[in-house]
Amino acid sequence: MAATIIDGKAFAATVRGQVAEHVAALKAGHGIVPGLAVVLVGEDPASQVYVRNKGKQTAEAGMASFEHKLDAATPEAELLALVARLNADPAVHGILVQLPLPAHIDAAKVINAIDPAKDVDGFHISNVGLLATGQKALVPCTPLGCLMMLRDHHGSLAGMEAVVVGRSNIVGKPMAQLLLGDSCTVTVAHSRTADLGAVCRRADILVAAVGRPEMIRGDWVKPGATVIDVGINRVAHPDDPGKSRLVGDCHFDSCAEVAGAITPVPGGVGPMTIACLLANTLTACCRAHGLPEPQ
Ligand code: NDP
Repeated sequence: MAATIIDGKAFAATVRGQVAEHVAALKAGHGIVPGLAVVLVGEDPASQVYVRNKGKQTAEAGMASFEHKLDAATPEAELLALVARLNADPAVHGILVQLPLPAHIDAAKVINAIDPAKDVDGFHISNVGLLATGQKALVPCTPLGCLMMLRDHHGSLAGMEAVVVGRSNIVGKPMAQLLLGDSCTVTVAHSRTADLGAVCRRADILVAAVGRPEMIRGDWVKPGATVIDVGINRVAHPDDPGKSRLVGDCHFDSCAEVAGAITPVPGGVGPMTIACLLANTLTACCRAHGLPEPQ
């Protein structure tokens, strides 16, 4: 294997530690406790795991964690009423509504009902617009975590050729905006991209956010490129079909032969996502109180 493994787990622990220090200083200096409210509708098993982890890490950082678990049949109006209460609650600085929502609920309507100043997922249309126009926004956690790892590994990203595979609102598009903001030359690829392999081979930075297990193989990777694998796919274990394991959107072994650096799955982008959620909650809290933001 040639590639450096970018250790997202260790980096995330550092970020969480910095957040915890800042939170302790806020408490000691101002008596302020940042609060994060997480809303889960229904019983999607993956979402339950995410919400549990978020609650645990929020508390470990010294913040207040408010969990709201609603029945899968909860009417949209009831969820909107909860969001309105959280918007008005001064103890809540960040609100996250776990996606996906049940089909009878209009997710965009709910997300856009969140106070943009508390929208720590960065999905509200105001934050999307602020990010796109290079203004101060709350930035979606997964792409923010990817950007932090890239900056940490490379320093400046200016002039690099970046290819983002995936154009979702939660990963691909904001990732492209962030890379553009750091002066990369950005291509966004998707399911209709012609000759995806050739497009990927141009990339100094290749971000995979597709949701297709191990789709990107080593022969799509430019030698020495940095590969950021956002994918989280649960597949049958090759040695024991009764068990499952997590793989990314990149075929790790073949990509690592060619890449200069690569994030593993698990232990890469995933832990950074929650660390950035905590960082965004702290940022939202500081802004709400007119205090200096963590850098
Ligand atoms: P979406 O399903 O919303 O988007 C997937 C994107 O990939 C779409 O733009 C789609 O193109 C594109 N795509 C699908 N198939 C192909 C293909 N064969 N070739 C090229 N492009 C393709 O997924 P998300 O963005 O929400 O998530 C992507 C992955 O990241 C998933 O594995 C998810 O689990 C993971 N994830 C991980 C997180 C973390 O914390 N690490 C957080 C969020 C997501 P088109 O638009 O044309 O359909």
